[in-house]
Order: sequence, then C-alpha cells, then structure tokens
Amino acid sequence: MSSKVLLIYTGGTIGMVKSPNAASLYPIDFNNLLDNISELELLNCKIQIISLETPIDSSNINTFHWVEIAGLIEENYKYYDGFVVLHGTDTMSYSASALSFMLENLQKPVIFTGSQLPIGDLRTDAKENLITSVQLASLKKDEIPVIKEVCLYFEYKLFRGNRSTKINADHFKAFASKNFPPLATSGVRINLRSDLLLNPAVNSDLLVHKDLSTDVALLKLFPGIQQTIISSILDTENLKGVVLETYGSGNAPTAKWFLDLIEKAILNGIYIVNVTQCSGGKVEMGHYATSAKMQSLGVISASDMTTEAAITKMMFLLSVRTGLDFKLAFKNSLRGEISKN
Ligand code: ASP
Repeated sequence: MSSKVLLIYTGGTIGMVKSPNAASLYPIDFNNLLDNISELELLNCKIQIISLETPIDSSNINTFHWVEIAGLIEENYKYYDGFVVLHGTDTMSYSASALSFMLENLQKPVIFTGSQLPIGDLRTDAKENLITSVQLASLKKDEIPVIKEVCLYFEYKLFRGNRSTKINADHFKAFASKNFPPLATSGVRINLRSDLLLNPAVNSDLLVHKDLSTDVALLKLFPGIQQTIISSILDTENLKGVVLETYGSGNAPTAKWFLDLIEKAILNGIYIVNVTQCSGGKVEMGHYATSAKMQSLGVISASDMTTEAAITKMMFLLSVRTGLDFKLAFKNSLRGEISKN
C-alpha cells in the first residue's frame, strides 16, 4: 500500500520569495509551494500539506511554535505514515532537538528539512532536500514505518535531529552531526543505517509533552568574561537551569569568584549543565583540574550532546523531573541524543 505523508510548512527560505520593493526574503503562502515541485507526484505516496497559522523565518521560532508543530503531529498521527517539517535552517537543529524530546514513543518518522536557496530559485537545493525527505518519511517494511524518530535531512544526509547542528550559512552542506554518524546517505541509492535507528517499545502510545520551561539560560564562556556578567545571569529571577558552554573537554576558569558563583547558583537549586564549545568530542569533567571542582560542586556533564540538544533537553526535563531525577535523566539517553560512556 502506498504511504501517506503530511508536510508541515513552518516557513524558512524554502518557501520564501524576494519582495518586489525590498531586497529581503519573506515567507510565501504555503499553498503555492508544491507548484514548484511536480516531481513529487511521481513518488508512490500521497502527500498533503498544512501550515503553521503564520509561516515564519525560523529566527522567530519559540516554544509556542514547537507546541503547535507537536500538536499538528499529534492530531494527524493516526492518519499518516510519516511527517516532513519544512523549516528555516537557522534554528532547525533546535526545533528538531526540542521535538525529539516532546514526542515520546514515536513510531513514525518526523523529518525536518529546508533549503539554503528558495524553492523557485534556478540553483535551489530545496527540491532534492524535499523529495528525499518525503521518500525517507514514506519508507515502510511490512506496512510498518522504518524510521521511528525525529531526523533532519539536508544535502544528501539524514541526521538524528538532536545530534545535528547548523555549521555553515553559505554552503549547501549546512548541517553536521560530529558525534554521531548519519542515519542515511543519499547517492544513487539511499543507504539507510538500520543498525543506528532508534527502536522504541512498540506497545506504548505516542505521548506528546507540551510543557517546556523557558526559565533557562545559555552562557558561553570566553577569556575575559566579567564576574558581573556571569552573576547577573545567574541571579536572574526564576532561573531554573543554565547550559554552560565551556572550553575543550569541559574546562572553565578556576578563579575563586567564578567557582563561588557556580556553587551559589547550585545551592539555590539552579541546574548547571556543562557542554563543550567544540563542535565535536565530549565533556569529561575531572580530566583536568579546570573541571574537577565544577564536578564536585554538582555541575552536570552533557558529555557529547550538542548545545541545541542540551538546552532543549533542559527545557523539557525542567517540566517533568526534579532533583536527582533531573540529573539522572539528563545524563541518560532519552532519544539517542547522548552516547553511552
Ligand atoms: N532565515 C532563514 C530561516 O531560518 C534561513 C533559512 O531558511 O535557511 O528561516
């Protein structure tokens, strides 16, 4: 039986045009989108398209949009074999990471894609990205979807969504997943790594988590960062969690004022997660003296998680776990976002 795929259009370059009066790009009405890709009719699959109420440039995305996307998937879950989310590239890895945590027990593919050039552009990358994403979303074996997780497809590679990150603003190869291999590569054939795919328990129903905390901060260290900057962030009212972007394998200054501020924040019940500024590799607290003290104060290691996965996991976990439970859940893999040690 042919597959049914739902395209969820959220905006982004893929569906943008140049305004006649200005040089900037803005999102168009999604209904016109498919007129540009008649090739989709050749696929053995029925495609329907819906849109966010107001398509946006993904720089404007926030948690309400994530809830809207999750809600559209929930409402349509039983009617489709797979979902393709058309999204701007700027924040696509954040959205794919967030959705991976929000959609528990997912048994169907949710594939984020977009493009660097608008779909109507002569040299566009939109067609290949969209066509292959639909193909991947429609894959079934014995009538059961092959992919059962949130992914991101771009420029011939399918990544686990919560392992991906945007690495280039100009190249068609705009995304990478430095700490986890691609789930599929698309060449003459699509080569799917079934051994890497998530395989959630089959008897559980889809659970959609719509509560996300925004009482979080992302703090990137740099040599010379001032005490007042760090203290004003950590003293923010209602702050519940901070993702601290540290150097190398999780290292930070050992200055007393810095460690005192971290200690005070943790004693005040703020979770502090250590993620590396490097694009690959992992945090190993205790490996150097410059991370050992943070470890003893209770800073949580994000190991090889991306910043996008760490911040969205924190937003998700803050609404469902507390105390030790939060720490354990953070260090464990919920949706394949972190490697086993
Ligand atoms: N600014 C655009 C967006 O993220 C860029 C893109 O789609 O590639 O919505």
